[in-house]
Amino acid sequence: MDPQRSPLLELKGNTELKRPLIKAPSRLPLSGSRLKRRPDQMEDGLEPEKKRTRVLGATTKITTSRPRVPPLTAVPQTQSQTTAQKVSKKIGPRCSTTIATVLKNQKPVPAVPVQKPGTVPPMVGGKKPSKRPAWDLKGQLCDVNAELKRCRERTQTLGQENQQLQDQLRDAQEQTKALGTECRTLEGQLATVQAEAEQGQQELKKLRARIVELEERLSTQEDLVQELQKKQVELQEERRGLTSQLEEKERRLQTSEAALSSSQAEVASLRQETAAQAALLTEREERLHGLEMERRRLHNQLQELKGNIRVFCRVRPVLPGEPTPPPGLFLFPSGPGGPSDPTTRLSLSRSDERRGTLSGAPVPPTRHDFSFDRVFPPGSQQDEVFEEIAMLVQSALDGYPVCIFAYGQTGSGKTFTMEGGPGGDPQLEGLIPRALRHLFSVAQELSGQGWTYSFVASYVEIYNETVRDLLATGTRKGQGSECEIRHARPGSEELTVTNARYVPVSCEKEVEALLHLARQNRAVARTAQNERSSRSHSVFQLQITGEHSSRGLQCGAPLSLVDLAGSERLDPGLAFGPGERERLRETQAINSSLSTLGLVIMALSNKESHVPYRNSKLTYLLQNSLGGSAKMLMFVNISPLEENVSESLNSLRFASKVRLPPVIPRPCQYLWVVVGFSIRTHLSSRPGSTLSRKVLDSQASGALLTWFHF
Ligand code: ADP
Ligand code: MG
Repeated sequence: MDPQRSPLLELKGNTELKRPLIKAPSRLPLSGSRLKRRPDQMEDGLEPEKKRTRVLGATTKITTSRPRVPPLTAVPQTQSQTTAQKVSKKIGPRCSTTIATVLKNQKPVPAVPVQKPGTVPPMVGGKKPSKRPAWDLKGQLCDVNAELKRCRERTQTLGQENQQLQDQLRDAQEQTKALGTECRTLEGQLATVQAEAEQGQQELKKLRARIVELEERLSTQEDLVQELQKKQVELQEERRGLTSQLEEKERRLQTSEAALSSSQAEVASLRQETAAQAALLTEREERLHGLEMERRRLHNQLQELKGNIRVFCRVRPVLPGEPTPPPGLFLFPSGPGGPSDPTTRLSLSRSDERRGTLSGAPVPPTRHDFSFDRVFPPGSQQDEVFEEIAMLVQSALDGYPVCIFAYGQTGSGKTFTMEGGPGGDPQLEGLIPRALRHLFSVAQELSGQGWTYSFVASYVEIYNETVRDLLATGTRKGQGSECEIRHARPGSEELTVTNARYVPVSCEKEVEALLHLARQNRAVARTAQNERSSRSHSVFQLQITGEHSSRGLQCGAPLSLVDLAGSERLDPGLAFGPGERERLRETQAINSSLSTLGLVIMALSNKESHVPYRNSKLTYLLQNSLGGSAKMLMFVNISPLEENVSESLNSLRFASKVRLPPVIPRPCQYLWVVVGFSIRTHLSSRPGSTLSRKVLDSQASGALLTWFHF
């Protein structure tokens, strides 16, 4: 059987197989023809199966003629039910119901035809009747009749049976038809159901996928939820911390607010106090300004009393390797006040061998006495020297031109005095760096009183009446490019050097850098022209400008610090080679400019109408720092060596000519002493005003000194 075929179709097939059974009666031998045949013919004409049937009897034959019926009828109820269940499982409950109905309506076909009572088939007796002899025709006829009768009965039975079967067949066909229709319907339904099932499956699949997806999302969401929960816990912790912080801060704020309110009250009272202080301060500032102006005036007067032209003498110590001078060569007699008085006198003892030879007896050395504004013996330190000129430098800030010279023969200590010793030792710093530091510091103090100062530096050298910039840089460095001295503006008194650098300075470092540059430039020149530095005048100038903007006041003055060329004369015994001629020219130029300087100073001292500034480049350049209210100081530097006595004497004589003793009436001197002390008492109450105290001490002591001097 085809496994794909439904049990219903199988049933139908079985039913179809029964059809030959319907035709079976037609194959049965008609009684008439049977009668005509002989028994052997009849036996031989039958098919083997039929023969067997004949042997077994008519009942058996009928049974075999419908072999397919029994499967329907003989199928036990349980088997039908099982089949129906199987079908119902396959096609669903609705189809299975239909099949069960069909099976129920099918009439059971008896497996064995009913044997009529009284008709005993010949073989059912077990023993076949014995064959009648040929002569027993009657007996044979009787048998034939009996046989005929049986056949007729059998025919009748079969006819009935046939009828029954045909009825059953019809029913079965109808049922088959109905079942077929139903089956098709069911198949259609089945297809629909299957389609629906497939659709359902797909939907189910989709739903499963969706479920998986949702489950994944769910797990993700769960993770997220867990994370968020963790975060929530953390945030809650943080919140708790912040809340406690906030509370703490609020507490502190409250404390601060309380403090603030008390501070505000304090501030209000302080403001009142400040306003009062400000008023007082303004008043004091006014007073201070008045005093400052008074100080300046008095300071200038004091400087003038000391002399607008002053001369200091400085004798340098004997350097290592130099011959020790004979004792008593230089003497430094103390002043009227004893050794505590600053030294102002110097004696030079010189033995004149020629005079001794002429008289024939030893002649005592000639003593030359000199008196200056101040004499610095060999042991004097740089700071001591500067202390003496600090007040003079102060005058430059007050608006008075100041000029300081260093005069003397080469090697007497001019450069040491002006710039300082070698090695950058702060103790050995000269006047230039010290003066500038002092100016910067005083300017800083005066800024508190509303004064603003600016400083512009220049540094030139005058060699053989030519001016050269010592601050030249780059390609101009060491070239000795020509500079000219000109008026800054037409009609202006101010002088300027063309091609020279004017560098604004505001601190010591900048000044140091400039001095270093000047030294470098001199060194370059030295290699080119032998020891030119000692044969030239070096002029460091600082243009000072002060302004008091709130009061509309201005002051300005140049401070000039000049390292003059060596004052030594040319030895007349030297041979006149080309080098010496050049040297002679240099010396003549130096002597000329130095004597012009002496003449200028003397003309200024004598207040002559004509001052020969134009006679040399040096005096021409310095004219604004020498005349009028200008303060001039000359250091005469002296070598302590015996071999230099002659030059030392010349220098001392030159300096003595320059220095004119100040002529001051005695009442005026007394007045100065009183004024000096009163100002000192007045300003010393100012906190932190060391400068003013220093200035006033100096002023007072200066005034006193001047007084005692005369
Ligand atoms: P000048 O400039 O007059 O030619 P210098 O200033 O060059 O002389 O001095 C010559 C030498 O003497 C230098 O070595 C210098 O250091 C030294 N010298 C000058 N004056 C003093 C002094 N007061 N103390 C110590 N050494 C000095
Ligand atoms: Mg020098």
